[in-house]
Parts: sequence; structure tokens; C-alpha cells
Amino acid sequence: MGIKAFAQILLYTVSLNSHMACLKCPEPVYASGMCAAHFSQYFEKKVSKTIKRFSLFGKGDVVGVAASGGKDSTACLHILKKLGYDVTALTVDAQIGSYTEENLVALRSFCESIAVPLHEISFKGEFGYSLNEVTSVLKSKGNSTSSCLVCGVLRRYLLNKLAKELGLDVVATGHTMDDEVQAFLMNIFRNDARLALRQGPVTGDSDASGFVKRVKPLYLCTEAETTAYSKLCGFHVKYERCPCSVDAYRRQFRDFLDGFEKRHPSVKHNIMSFYLDNVLPLKPPVASPGKCVKCGEPASDSLCKRCEILSMLG
Ligand code: SF4
Ligand SMILES: [Zn+2]
Ligand SMILES: [Zn+2]
Repeated sequence: MGIKAFAQILLYTVSLNSHMACLKCPEPVYASGMCAAHFSQYFEKKVSKTIKRFSLFGKGDVVGVAASGGKDSTACLHILKKLGYDVTALTVDAQIGSYTEENLVALRSFCESIAVPLHEISFKGEFGYSLNEVTSVLKSKGNSTSSCLVCGVLRRYLLNKLAKELGLDVVATGHTMDDEVQAFLMNIFRNDARLALRQGPVTGDSDASGFVKRVKPLYLCTEAETTAYSKLCGFHVKYERCPCSVDAYRRQFRDFLDGFEKRHPSVKHNIMSFYLDNVLPLKPPVASPGKCVKCGEPASDSLCKRCEILSMLG
């Protein structure tokens, strides 16, 4: 073998190894250029730093984690407990067939395994209808509001109600960087600056708005990282998407961004940085909204969104 060929093989081997080895040690790469142990530390540290950077909550706060039994909220719950926060799990059962049934079973057993109390509330118990029943009644009346919109409004209402009843200081959700970036692009496409300004790692504020403060500890973690962390921890969660999200408008943004990210890595981080540097500083203080004439909960119009949806069912 000539010197040139040998040098080429050596170079190839070095580049292959440097590609395959962890950035911090000789172990093989698991995710984000790191081995399993370093990736796990990096991910948990990122969540811890996010909590401090955006002042999400402190050690004296009681934190309700909105948990669905999915990978993101399970990762969030697991890390907050591991970091020593006073956590309690809250779940809203929208009753979407076997998907939510299996998630609920997994969530109950996970909470038991990490000794976190779980508080459950359901659509049917509170409203008399499951999510699918609400959307099909609406459809039969010619209203095509998407499942996700109905689900989001009713779920937020129930979480807020439960958090207030339990006297929680803050509700943490499993929203990731991907969720935030998708929402930001959707708001641009709809030319909705008001909603874009409502985004961010903290929304709601008990004193000013009547909503318990809601925070996103996974705000700077991508969905790929969260999936990798969940798999590493061996959580018994489903990785397929909610069956009701098939036609969701958001799904088109997710697919578009994922495809774009493959061709232009770091585009999601860039959009997030743009949001944090240029939009978030413009966010106005939480204003005190009016009250819903029907239920007395905070509302920007005379009827809150929940009552608006429920009134269409009668
Ligand atoms: S994907 Fe839509 S319908 Fe399914 S749980 Fe999420 S918001 Fe609800
Ligand atoms: Zn390593
Ligand atoms: Zn109302």
C-alpha cells in the first residue's frame, strides 16, 4: 500500500471516529453528538438552566405538571422531580378512545413509580361529553372547529380549574422548542401579532389574569432531543401521534419544518433565537381581562371560549 493510500485510510478512520465518538468522551454517540451519559446530563442541565433563565418557578413553589402520558410531559415530570422540585401531576382525559386510555394507564403507573401524586379530571365528567362527542355534535350543526382547537380550549380550562382548586403556584407543560417554533410560524402565516406576542416560556399570571401561571421547562429542548431522552430513560410511552391530529393545520407546519431542518440544520434554533431576541422583549405585561358573563372565568369577550363551545352543544 502506498503512503498516499495509507494516509487516506487514516484520515477516513480519524474522521469516522470523530464523527462517531461523543464530543466529551470516547464513547459512541447516542444523540446530539454525545454518548448516552453525557446526553442525559446535557438534557437535564438544559431544563434546569431554562427554569432559572426565565424564572419559571423556584424550590418553594408547588408545581403542577400537565401530564398526558406522552413522551414530552413524562420527560418534564421526570426531570422536575429529579431536580428536587415539589411536583404534582395533573391530567385531563379527553377520552379519545384507546389512545388516551393506554396513555392514562401508563401515566398512573409512572407517577406511582416516582412517588408523584396524580390528579385526574375528564371531559365527560366535567362537560358530559368526550372530545369526539363534542366535535361530532359541532359538525352535525355545521361547525367545523378542529378537534385540536376544541381540545386545547377545554383542556386549558380544566387544567386551570384543577390548579386553582389544588392551590398550585404554577402549571408546567411539556411544550418543546418545536411546538413553540411551529406556533410562531403559524402566527406569522395568519398575520396574528397578538397571538405571537402571547407566546413564550411563561404565559398567564395568577394575579393579573385569573389564569394560573403556565410555564414550559422544555422550551429550549427540541422534540428530537426529548424523544431521545425519553427512549434513553425507557419511558413506557407511545411515540405515535394522537389520532385526532391527522387533519390538524399544525401538522403541515411540523412536516414543513422537519423537512426544512433536514436540509438546513439549525433552522429551528434560528427561528427560536429570532423570537427570543426580537419578539419576546416586546411582550406586554399580562393585562387583566374581563369576566365571562356565564361562568365568571377570565375572558377577552363576553363569553369565554369554553362557554362559547359548550353553548353550541345545547
Ligand atoms: S393532538 Fe389535538 S386532539 Fe390530540 S390531544 Fe393534542 S390537542 Fe388534543
Ligand atoms: Zn460522552
Ligand atoms: Zn365561561
